[in-house]
Amino acid sequence: MDIADVPEVPDWLLSHLREQGIEALYPPQAEAVEQGVTRGESLVASIPTASGKTLVATLAMLSAVESRGGMALYIVPLRALASEKREEFEEFEAYGLDVGVSTGNYESDGGWLAGKDIVVATSEKVDSLVRNDAPWLEELSCVVADEVHLVDDAERGPTLEVTLATLRRLNPALQTVALSATIGNAEELATWLDAALVDSTWRPIELRKGVHYGDALHLENGDQQRLPVRRSEDQPAAIVRDTLEEGGSTLVFVNSRRNAESAAGRLASTTEAALTPETETELAALAAEIRDVSDTDTSDDLAAAVERGAAFHHAGLAREHRQLVETAFRDRLVKVICATPTLAAGVNTPARRVIVRDWRRYDGTVGGMTPLSVLEVHQMMGRAGRPGRDPYGEAVLLANGHDELDELFERYVWAEPEPVASKLAAEPALRTHALATVASGFARSRGDLLAFFEETLYAEQTADRAHLRTVTDDVVAYLVTNGFLERTETGLAATGLGHTVSRLYLDPMSAAEVVDGLRSLEEGGEPTALGLYHLVCRTPDMYELYLRSGDEEEYTMLAHERAEELLGRAPSEFEERFEDWLSALKTARLLEDWAGEVDEDELADRYQVGPGDIRGKTDAAEWLLGAAESLSAELDLGVGPAIRRARQRVAAGVRAELVELAEVRGVGRKRARRLFDAGIETPAQLRGADKSVVLAALRDRPNTAETVLENAGHPDPSMTDVEPAADLLPEPGATDESGTDDPDGRGQANLEDF
Ligand code: ADP
Repeated sequence: MDIADVPEVPDWLLSHLREQGIEALYPPQAEAVEQGVTRGESLVASIPTASGKTLVATLAMLSAVESRGGMALYIVPLRALASEKREEFEEFEAYGLDVGVSTGNYESDGGWLAGKDIVVATSEKVDSLVRNDAPWLEELSCVVADEVHLVDDAERGPTLEVTLATLRRLNPALQTVALSATIGNAEELATWLDAALVDSTWRPIELRKGVHYGDALHLENGDQQRLPVRRSEDQPAAIVRDTLEEGGSTLVFVNSRRNAESAAGRLASTTEAALTPETETELAALAAEIRDVSDTDTSDDLAAAVERGAAFHHAGLAREHRQLVETAFRDRLVKVICATPTLAAGVNTPARRVIVRDWRRYDGTVGGMTPLSVLEVHQMMGRAGRPGRDPYGEAVLLANGHDELDELFERYVWAEPEPVASKLAAEPALRTHALATVASGFARSRGDLLAFFEETLYAEQTADRAHLRTVTDDVVAYLVTNGFLERTETGLAATGLGHTVSRLYLDPMSAAEVVDGLRSLEEGGEPTALGLYHLVCRTPDMYELYLRSGDEEEYTMLAHERAEELLGRAPSEFEERFEDWLSALKTARLLEDWAGEVDEDELADRYQVGPGDIRGKTDAAEWLLGAAESLSAELDLGVGPAIRRARQRVAAGVRAELVELAEVRGVGRKRARRLFDAGIETPAQLRGADKSVVLAALRDRPNTAETVLENAGHPDPSMTDVEPAADLLPEPGATDESGTDDPDGRGQANLEDF
C-alpha cells in the first residue's frame, strides 16, 4: 500500500515519511490500515521484531489526534524506552503537535500533561496516574501498549493488564492498539481487547537462525557453514572476525551490564585488528566525544572500547552515550555492540549477525540462573539483518558440546514462542490492584470488584472463575484486617490509610509491615538508620540479598548485637520467617555501609554483588522510606524526621553531614566528601567558594568544577585561568578512581552512573 493511500492521517505525514525513505507500507502495516487502525478500530498487531510496529502505532495515534481530537497515550514497558520513544515522537512537534513524557515520581496526577497530544509513559506510571485521579485520562482517544506480550511477566504484567482494563472502562470509546512480538496466542489478546488482529511472520529481510558449535555454524535449514575458532579466540571473537571479513557488524547479547562491558573489552582486540587508519581516526574522534559526555569510569571504559571499534550498551549508559553508540553502529563505524536485552526491546540497531551469547540469566526470585524464554531469544535474534544492506541476517546461539547443540536447536531455533498468560491471579498482584480499584472508586463492593476483574485477560483465559473469587475474597479479608479497606453497608470502601497506600503505589503488605514496625517503637522512641533500613528491607517491595554459607551465623550474631535497633517482634530461630529476617538484615547492613560512605568496590566485594544491584537496592530503599514517611504522617506516628534523614543518606550514599552538599547536581558522594574535607561544607559555602579550592578538591578537572559551581549557583563559575590550590591536590603518583586506566576494560563505574 502506498503511504499516500492511508486514510485519516494528517497531510504532512506523507512528506515526513518520504523524507525517512518510507514510500510504501510493509505488508503487516497495510493489513493494519485495512483493519481500520487509522479509523479508530482497536487492533492487536503481533509482528516480528524490526518489522515496523512503531509506524502502526504512529498511524493510529496521529489519525486519532487529527480526526477525532483528544489525546494519545503510548505505554512503554521500560523507563529507558520512554525517552527513546519521546524522541521519536518529538519529530512531530515540527508540525504543531505537543509531546510529553511522564516518568518521575508516583505521587502526582501529572496535571501538566493535560492538553498534550501524545504522552509517553510506563504502565506503572499510568497506573499511578489513575490512582491519583488524573482528569485528562478521560480525554484519551487512543492508547498504544508497546510490547504487550509482557502481560505475561509475573512482576509487571498485572499492572499493564489492569491499566488497560481501567483505561477502557474510563473511556469505553477508547481505541486500543496493542503491539506484540510474535507470540503463540495473539488471538486471545485480540478477543480480550475487542480488537482486530494482525498476526504476521513477515519480515523485511530474511532471518536465518542457527547455533555455532565446534568449527561450524549450524543453520536451521540444515546448512553448515565453516567458521573455525582459532586458538587465540573464543566463539564470539571468531564469529565477529568472520563477520568483519564479510564487511558486516555484530550485535552480541549478554545477560548483565558487567558482562556487556567485559565482552566489549575483549572483542575490541578482534575489531581493532580490522580497522583502517581512516576508521581509526574517526573512532578516536568519537571516543573523545564520548569522554566529553561525562567524567566517569563508564565513560572512559566506553571510549577505550570504541577507540578500538567495539562498544557496550546498557540501560546504565547516559542517553548521549547510547545515542553516539547507536549512530556509530548504524554508520558501520563501530563494528560490535555488546548489549543487555534492553537493546532488543526498543532500539533500532540492526546488525548483519546477532550472537545470543547468554541464554540464561540470573533470576533473583529463584536465586539462580534460568533460561530465557523463546520469545526473548527470538526478539534478540530479530535484530539480525539490515534491510537494503544485507542479503539476509543471521542469528546464532553458542554451544559448547554436542548435547548443547541439540538442546539449543530444540529449545530456541525450532521452538515456537510461548503463549502469554495472565499473572493477575497471583496474590500480591491482586492485593495491590484490588485496593487500587476500590480506592480509585472503580469498585464499591465485592461484586463490583469481580465485575472489574472480568474485564481482564485473566478472565478471558480462565473458564473457571472459582479461583479468582476465592483469591479475591482472601485478599479483601486481608485488606480489611489491616485497615486499608472497610466494610460498609453497601459494600467496600477504602480507609484514609488505604487511599494513602494506593497513591504511594505500595504493595499493601509492605505498608502493613512498615506500619507495624513503626508502631512498635516506644512512645518518643527514635528509630536508627539500620532499624529503618531493616524494616523496609523486610517488605515484599524489596529484593533482599541471599544468605551465603557462613552468613547465617554472621547475621544471627549481628541480629543479637543490634536487637535493640530492629523494629517489630523478632522471630525466634525456629520460625520460618527467621531466614527472611536475616536476609533483610544483610540487605540493611549493605545500605548502612553505603550510607556510611564505604567504597562501592568494597561493597561489591563484601556482599558479592554488582554495582547495578547496589543501585537497585538503594533506589528501592529511597522510595520505600519516602513512603514510610508519608505513612508516619498519615498515622501521626511522629517519626518523620528520622525517616527523612535515613532516606536522604541512602539516596546519596553519604553520612549525615554531607546530605545537603551531595544534593547539588553533579556532586555525588565522593566529590561531596572531598569538598567537605577541603572545608566546603554546605551548598551555600560552595556557592561562594574559592574556585582554586574547588578545582583542587575536584582533582583539577576544570569542566567538572565549572558544572558543579554552575549547579550550585556560583556567580562566576568559569575556571579559565584558575589554578588548583596546590596544598589540596593529591600527592603526585597517588591514584584516584577518576584517573586510573582500566587495562582489560572490566572496570566498574561509580554507582551514580548505573
Ligand atoms: P519494531 O518496532 O517492529 O521492532 P520498528 O518500528 O523499529 O520495528 O521498525 C524498524 C525499522 O523499519 C525502522 O528503521 C523503520 O523506520 C523502518 N520501517 C518501518 N516501516 C517501514 C516501511 N514501510 N518502509 C521502510 N522502512 C520502514
